[in-house]
Amino acid sequence: MYTFDSLINGEWRSEGGAEFTTLNPSSPDERVGRYTTTSEALLGEALSSAGAAQAAWQAMPPAERGRLVGAYLDAIAARTDDIAKAVTLEQGKPFGESVGETGKALREARYMAGEAVRSHSGVVPAQKPDCRNLVLRRPRGVIAAVTPWNFPVLTPLRKIAPALAHGNAIILKPSDLTPASACLIAEAAEGILPPGLLQIVHGGGELGSALVRHPRIDGVTFTGSAETGRRIFAAAAENLAELSLELGGKNAAVINDTDDLDRCLDQVFGAACQCAGQRCTAISRVIVAQDLHEAVLAGLKARAEAQVIGNGMDQATTLGPLVNAGQLDRVSGFVSRAVEAGAEVVTGGAPADVPEAPTGYFYQPTVLNSVVPSMEVARAEVFGPVLSVLTYRDYDEAIDILNDVEFGLTSSLFSNDSRLIQRFLNESQNGMLHVNHGTIPDDHMPFGGIRNSGVGAYSVGPSAVNFYTTEHSAYLQYPEGTQ
Ligand code: NAD
Repeated sequence: MYTFDSLINGEWRSEGGAEFTTLNPSSPDERVGRYTTTSEALLGEALSSAGAAQAAWQAMPPAERGRLVGAYLDAIAARTDDIAKAVTLEQGKPFGESVGETGKALREARYMAGEAVRSHSGVVPAQKPDCRNLVLRRPRGVIAAVTPWNFPVLTPLRKIAPALAHGNAIILKPSDLTPASACLIAEAAEGILPPGLLQIVHGGGELGSALVRHPRIDGVTFTGSAETGRRIFAAAAENLAELSLELGGKNAAVINDTDDLDRCLDQVFGAACQCAGQRCTAISRVIVAQDLHEAVLAGLKARAEAQVIGNGMDQATTLGPLVNAGQLDRVSGFVSRAVEAGAEVVTGGAPADVPEAPTGYFYQPTVLNSVVPSMEVARAEVFGPVLSVLTYRDYDEAIDILNDVEFGLTSSLFSNDSRLIQRFLNESQNGMLHVNHGTIPDDHMPFGGIRNSGVGAYSVGPSAVNFYTTEHSAYLQYPEGTQ
């Protein structure tokens, strides 16, 4: 059993907190972690120690900061298997996926450690004689980070590494369903990073709200649902704190033509069902040309029926459970209402019976046919292993269906027609655009969404600097004739 309190100024503290536990979604009678919520008094201590730690960190030469962040990442890497196990036990995904998540988090973070010494400043020609203009950057200050349960290592580290490399302190509130791995990565900082720079607070929405609206917070980075994102946007507005929101998606693959349908469907199905479909970048709509419709349905059905559903710690498992009973009800509800509205179940369509784990929150990988764009299942974020198949007559209609949702996170086009590829790059209303592959992003590419999928600077790679630093325009007047 994992046991963690709040990490405040380098010490694990519990005063004034209430106990809460986490469960294994493969066998919910098994308690996995025991934690205490963070009291208002401890949150206050976290905020004041973050300010002091940040001032000293900012004064440190950036190369030294980058070296310490690198050493910290080495300490996390040395604990990869322990961290991945905590992810699987609390979140449910297969252990191999948890190891993959930890590896990806570290690769993204190593790029960020290098950001400490990359020059983000510039010299700009001046309008006036004997003048030189500089554009400088400084750390933003104290960052509040609030993260969801689906990527319990990747999302926290995607915020911690750039915050630290760019000279900030960070207070992280992980999801109360999956805090163990965030606590393990915070523990790995002991003896490497100065205390107070990375702190962990625990609780649900109420604590998250108290954190993000606090006047000592200089920037709020949030990953989660659009609904919570709206609340956080309003809360951060009270102090006009800088904001970066990464929200939900209703991602689609348009399959127009392909010379390798097997490879195409492997990519689409993988993007749909990894993490049991509980990914913001999961493909949940397949928009297919009529001549490929039958072949696509058959190929998706075969892939769904080949899945081994079970406990993520079993080596044979390819599809784990949904995270909790609420998520199982939610996914079941979407599918039942889709069927009532006229969708046809090609395969799946119900919770899965797993004899070795009879109480787990498993749902069968599901393919729905005869879905039309107006149905709820074609518009809302399902967050489960459910693929809706829609057809189109011409490419204009495909683009209309693709864009006819509130979200704009990621999208795929399968085609070898350069004219259609060009149109997709111009017309897909999404932050991320993939041609002839699924929606898994690279470790150094800007990551984010438009419309109701995101607000503010993208994270990952070079974009993060725009959130984690402030910009300063400096005008230097020299004595006449000295420049
Ligand atoms: P959620 O919005 O319910 O919760 C996310 C976090 O916000 C949790 O830590 C929660 O405790 C906290 N929270 C809740 N109410 C709050 C409030 N009023 N103020 C401050 N914090 C509050 O999301 P979830 O169910 O944990 O995660 C699933 C969602 O996350 C999906 O919509 C998914 O698409 C999205 N997501 C997006 C990305 C991305 O990068 N775009 C990545 C992963 C997940």
